[in-house]
Amino acid sequence: MRRPPFIDPFQPAEVRRLVKEFGSPLLILDCERVRVQMRKLKKALPQVALHYALKPLPHPAVVAAVLAEDGYLDLATSGEVQLARRLGVDPARCIHTHPIKRPQDIANALEFGVRLFVADNPDEIRKFAQLTDRAELLLRVSFRSPGAMVDLSRKFGCDPEDLLTLARIAADLGVRVRGLSFHAGSQVRDAAKHVEAVGACMKLMARARRAGLGIFDTLDIGGGFPIDYTEPVQDIRRFCAPLRAALAQLPRRVRVIAEPGRYIVGPAAIGVATVMGRARREGHWWYYLDDGLYGAWSGQLFDKASYPVETLRDGAERLPSVLAGPTCDSIDVIAENLMLPQLREGDLIVGRAMGAYTWACATEFNFFPKPAVVAVNRRAGDAGSVMHSGLQF
Ligand SMILES: *Cc1c(COP(=O)(O)O)cnc(C)c1O
Repeated sequence: MRRPPFIDPFQPAEVRRLVKEFGSPLLILDCERVRVQMRKLKKALPQVALHYALKPLPHPAVVAAVLAEDGYLDLATSGEVQLARRLGVDPARCIHTHPIKRPQDIANALEFGVRLFVADNPDEIRKFAQLTDRAELLLRVSFRSPGAMVDLSRKFGCDPEDLLTLARIAADLGVRVRGLSFHAGSQVRDAAKHVEAVGACMKLMARARRAGLGIFDTLDIGGGFPIDYTEPVQDIRRFCAPLRAALAQLPRRVRVIAEPGRYIVGPAAIGVATVMGRARREGHWWYYLDDGLYGAWSGQLFDKASYPVETLRDGAERLPSVLAGPTCDSIDVIAENLMLPQLREGDLIVGRAMGAYTWACATEFNFFPKPAVVAVNRRAGDAGSVMHSGLQF
């Protein structure tokens, strides 16, 4: 079947048109790019069920695009459960992966129909002692990843040496353990940590199964798949090649799932901001934008990402420039020592690869609202259109 032609919303003319229609600042989300990312990762990791982790961009259009590609969801909070429920998602396509939950969070997820949860300590396992007929667990194991931009094994996960003890606690309580999970860190340079973790989990699962401590037929390899920011990374096929080889060593009965977040949405959105005013200070042009470090560019702080920025104005002469955010705080500077054409009030600045951990962690400090999200290239029947600041849709 031929696909309908898609308009590329990242082209300058389209960016200008969308800003005219939806205002500035704006996050332009291209659902076709979300679908393409899903297909690329699926091709690089065939046989792995992809559960999109909502955290980097919890937007209905992303959920719809992921499901349209036969994807699944990784929910971690009651808010994410509520979003999936409101969108009519089949709970059988969802898992809940927060290792530390309030009883109410567990109740909300169970009520929606989620069955598979994550725990990494005895107290958390005990929360499931009265729910043995309704819930099953993955035990999260920690493999430290000091090389990753964001090490996700420091805060969560049990020591591999404690895994059998934990599995025994679950077995004694009658809590069914389906397998293990790990998160090797986000935006990792190569798959070495994933490969090491798969090998270690394979051994742990075999030992726990031999000891009769659970079913151990599921391995969740987490997220972490990297994307290009100002520094390019390995393409996904190359990144996943050693991981594919490691997964091929698993017994056939083990089902493998992954929880990609950044990889699915990062390249699928651009941030657009408008020059509110300018000043010349010590030989540099300072441009003050209507979005900054407290808004969608907050990922530069929280996620340590560095987004490629460009202007939509052409100009042969390039001058040393600073891009600053709108708030009165002096740390609110996006980039310094850029060479840009001379800009004027109303000119547009575009940040690339701004889908993940940008809008999602933006604040409204100083009453500067978060950018609206406009989702383009949706398929007919997808719900919702423009999402303004806050989580109402
Ligand atoms: C944040 C998170 C993810 C997504 O990680 P990425 O590095 O964005 O792919 C997946 N699983 C869990 C448990 C997470 O906390």
